[in-house]
Amino acid sequence: MTLGTGARFEVRAAIPLWLRLVFPLDMRVAIAGAGLAGLACAKYLCDAGHTPIVLEGRDVLGGKVAAWQDEDGDWYETGLHIFFGAYRNMRQLFAELNIEDRLQWKSHSMIFNQRENPGSYSRFDFPDIPAPFNGVAAILGNNDMLSWPEKIAFAKGLIPAMLRGQPYVEECDRYSWTEWLRLHNIPERVNDEVFIAMAKALNFIDPDEISSTVVLTALNRFLQESDGSKMAFLDGNPPQRLCQPIVDSITARGGEVHLDAPLREIELNADGTVSGFRIGGIKGQESRTIQADAT
Ligand SMILES: Cc1cc2nc3c(=O)[nH]c(=O)nc-3n(C[C@H](O)[C@H](O)[C@H](O)COP(=O)(O)OP(=O)(O)OC[C@H]3O[C@@H](n4cnc5c(N)ncnc54)[C@H](O)[C@@H]3O)c2cc1C
Repeated sequence: MTLGTGARFEVRAAIPLWLRLVFPLDMRVAIAGAGLAGLACAKYLCDAGHTPIVLEGRDVLGGKVAAWQDEDGDWYETGLHIFFGAYRNMRQLFAELNIEDRLQWKSHSMIFNQRENPGSYSRFDFPDIPAPFNGVAAILGNNDMLSWPEKIAFAKGLIPAMLRGQPYVEECDRYSWTEWLRLHNIPERVNDEVFIAMAKALNFIDPDEISSTVVLTALNRFLQESDGSKMAFLDGNPPQRLCQPIVDSITARGGEVHLDAPLREIELNADGTVSGFRIGGIKGQESRTIQADAT
């Protein structure tokens, strides 16, 4: 299935490489994958005057945010997708597409189901004051999940991340999150209560597997940015409500987005330069080779 305009690869390929390197404007760029990264990349290449060709192997836009409609017309999604306030680039993309109103912002709270008391919830409420004070107030204000000694140990543990920022956060890559908690004398119970959920949400793995860099990066953004931990949900299914406007922005400017077009092989010339991109070969289609200036 083709969503874009017709191909002009052969014409471009006829332009000598040296000319395209000297005058790199309007490069044709092949992008594998119509997930959010591939589509956003294509949109920004259009903004910069280039012509992206997005090749998606599946028959649906969105990659991990793909969704499908059942016979009753209901949508089912890969999972719940949260957009955090800290996602500056993603919010910028929504603004540029003029679809900011599709993000439905929730009150600034993190609410945890309490394992030992199903149906009851523990809240971290962020007051409307600047960071990091709103995050500190949210942590200090929660008495269900964290005792006072735990809050103090946790706050002390986060001070280097707040003061030294990303270099410290990256140094911590040598520890799993469970190890980081142990180093800071924070009991494993806090892991069970708070961080199993957070580690799984971040990377689908447990706190003893996830690098503490991943968790600290998120926590640090939440602490440094007043609205960093604020959450929004899209007002509908991502392929239609988010991916399609990106596709429209791409195709309106001559870019292309092809579904059912898996990139099979980057074909090389004898000298190692790229001769073409072999795609397709599924659902009864012949496989074909296209040209582009870059991938
Ligand atoms: C259940 C679930 C819940 C999530 N919840 C959240 C959340 O709440 N908040 C959050 O920020 N993130 C969340 N994520 C993560 C987020 O969805 C992903 O990080 C993001 O969508 C990844 O986008 P991507 O474009 O990098 O990769 P992908 O979405 O994986 O896109 C890659 C695309 O490339 C295609 N592809 C691969 N190989 C080829 C090839 N050779 N040729 C052509 N196409 C190819 C794939 O089919 C796919 O469409 C969640 C993910 C899942 C699965």
